[in-house]
Amino acid sequence: MIFSALANELAELESRGLKRVRRTLQTPQSARVTADGREYLAFCSNDYLGLANHPGLVRAAQEGCARYGVGAGASHLILGHGEAHHALEEALARFVALPRALQFSTGYMANIGVVAALVGRGDTVFADRLNHASLNDACLLARAEFKRYPHLDLGALEKLLAASRSRRKLVVTDAVFSMDGDIAPVPELVALVERFDAWLLVDDAHGFGVLGERGRGVLSHFGIESPRVIYMATLGKAAGVLGAFVAARTEVVETLVQRARSYIYTTATPPLLAHALLASLDLIEGGQWRRDRLARLIRQLKSCLAASCWPLMPSDTAIQPLAIGGNAEAVAVSEQLAQHGILVPAIRPPTVPQGTARLRVSLSAAHSEDDVAQLVAALNEISRKA
Ligand SMILES: *Cc1c(COP(=O)(O)O)cnc(C)c1O
Repeated sequence: MIFSALANELAELESRGLKRVRRTLQTPQSARVTADGREYLAFCSNDYLGLANHPGLVRAAQEGCARYGVGAGASHLILGHGEAHHALEEALARFVALPRALQFSTGYMANIGVVAALVGRGDTVFADRLNHASLNDACLLARAEFKRYPHLDLGALEKLLAASRSRRKLVVTDAVFSMDGDIAPVPELVALVERFDAWLLVDDAHGFGVLGERGRGVLSHFGIESPRVIYMATLGKAAGVLGAFVAARTEVVETLVQRARSYIYTTATPPLLAHALLASLDLIEGGQWRRDRLARLIRQLKSCLAASCWPLMPSDTAIQPLAIGGNAEAVAVSEQLAQHGILVPAIRPPTVPQGTARLRVSLSAAHSEDDVAQLVAALNEISRKA
């Protein structure tokens, strides 16, 4: 029976400490939330600037709704592409200083669309082993040869590129690794793709809005200008809304309009969200104090947990994972924190490699120094009892 087979598989997940359960949130995303009827201090979201429930964004969404209605009603190529989408794409391209940008419904869809539009059979994709699942899925879907190199290992990547006889070569990397918080050596990657006549797809889901001058992202952070870079960022994290965009040379972006299946065969995002995202861009650009505050909280957490029994992984970004190791232990610490009224997710395989389960603390400008102090005190208390 297929159903009993599924039940057995689910029971096995549970026995291995890998079953995932959802909490139900009753409030907007924020530092303090109510979930399953209880109040918590939360370090779970990717809302790094605290914009997800910003009154200016709420107002812009309402205004966009009044102006454009709720549903887009059609795909972009069949009259679903509105003036708000168009204005947003122009503003995004200007913001990241690339010739043209294209909005996608989600980051997952952007990655799936871009990789398969640019490479296929006979081509090769070179991918960091710790890339986000959406990039891995994109590479499999593209049917190109898929070569993964050890995390950040430029020497290994160079050997793979040198040995490749493929017509088209695409290197793909997270800019800020989503479960580790470390930053890819993008300038060195750009030098390699230039040397080997390849492209570089950079997924800046966790850098856009946070890194670089005025939050322009990882390219600005490193001062990179190269026509070989295909820049992708998401709009549901620091930008506080939903969606993603890809920015690159005009030929690349026009190719996506013609060929990216996850762009073509799907309904356009509600235009009210594009309208809200225009307001979000203004808040990102004008709100340097949010990035400064986030940087202070990151420094505070790192210095307070420097002597913790669970070491913080090497990261200077808002993603601050505590290395735990075992799945059951990671879940146990996360549950004990919840009993203290603090939510920090336990991240387990297959999201991260076997034996590297961790607590993924994510900080936001919505947090206060007192919130971080509470987290540190709870962790210290739990580790004393462990
Ligand atoms: C979150 C994330 C995505 C997916 O973006 P969504 O808009 O949530 O679908 C892609 N890449 C990375 C690195 C991410 O962290």
